[in-house]
Amino acid sequence: MANIPHVRFADTCATTPTWAGTVGGVGAPAAGPVQWTFDEIFDFDAISDVDNPPLGGSANKHNPASFTSTKWLAQAPLTGSDCTAPTPTAFTSVSAIFGPGLFVAQTAPDLILVSADHVHFYVHQHLLAKSTNGFNGLLARPSGLEAYNNPAELPSALVPESVEVLNVALHGVYNLTWTTPIPSFEVASGAVTSLVKYGFDVKPVFAPSTTLFGLFSRSYAPSVPMDVYCFAASYDLVLLAVFASKYLLSFPLCALDDTLAEKMGPRYLRRLFFLHLGRTDALKRLLLPQPAHHAPNAICGTAEGQRLTRAWALASAYIAWDARPDLTSQEIRSVMDPLLNELECTQCQLSFLERSSALIARWGEVKTTILAE
Ligand SMILES: [Zn+2]
Repeated sequence: MANIPHVRFADTCATTPTWAGTVGGVGAPAAGPVQWTFDEIFDFDAISDVDNPPLGGSANKHNPASFTSTKWLAQAPLTGSDCTAPTPTAFTSVSAIFGPGLFVAQTAPDLILVSADHVHFYVHQHLLAKSTNGFNGLLARPSGLEAYNNPAELPSALVPESVEVLNVALHGVYNLTWTTPIPSFEVASGAVTSLVKYGFDVKPVFAPSTTLFGLFSRSYAPSVPMDVYCFAASYDLVLLAVFASKYLLSFPLCALDDTLAEKMGPRYLRRLFFLHLGRTDALKRLLLPQPAHHAPNAICGTAEGQRLTRAWALASAYIAWDARPDLTSQEIRSVMDPLLNELECTQCQLSFLERSSALIARWGEVKTTILAE
């Protein structure tokens, strides 16, 4: 069901903290019900402070991998509203990341969000309170109050999002680094829609150092750049659009239909056109200067020197005819090299080579992304 690891265990509300259950999800043992004691259930050594964790993994104190071990999964206790109606055969799925042991600044979760497919996410209201609408009115009490001491008393709220979408949205709120697998673009973009509904300003959530910016720029932009570009445009996330635009140099503008134009809007449409047309014009300008001619000598006089002029004119015409914003230096070199070899004069060859090398160097300096302003 979910693309995140989760645990299933038997529902119980026993005041004596002994849980009986079966473990499902990643790394689940093949054996049947297992008994755990309270000390085994709460392994606080495996829990770290996740307050504003950095993007990138190794330096992150909250290593998501530590939340996906079978041991930890097996230790997740059952708490919250499910305890109101326990049945021996009922199972509760708990997010392996947003479990009851997820402490933020030494603060325990104080709310359970239940996804539409009944996976429990243990969250912190003071983080959700960054919302401008009380997380769409779901927060049970104002932030800043002490967390509930008894997790069995945690309030819970059912949300319409699937486990995948809610998982992405909460990763964005908590700025947590990702475990594998990476969610699909559709799920992630749907999660952002949910964040807007829950009262979050998308721009700070997509600041360049955040988890979501890293997800969209590194995981999605190389494979679905137009989707990311349109997404960024729809939320005016200019830095994300800049990042995606460098993968759109090969996108044929003739394939840009009304639907895409409407998605990205006139401002970002204009920026994309300027990027393509600007690079094409820049390439044509860079082709204009001629190679330098040496003084006539006994081997290469004025007439022979015209070969250099003709060779450059031929190369320029060929490149300009197929001038594309994604033209590579290798493609330029493949046009120049055969013409270079046809020149018999060593000095003319050197001049042609210097000119073509300068062209490639200058072409490499032409901006490959839209402008941020
Ligand atoms: Zn010459």
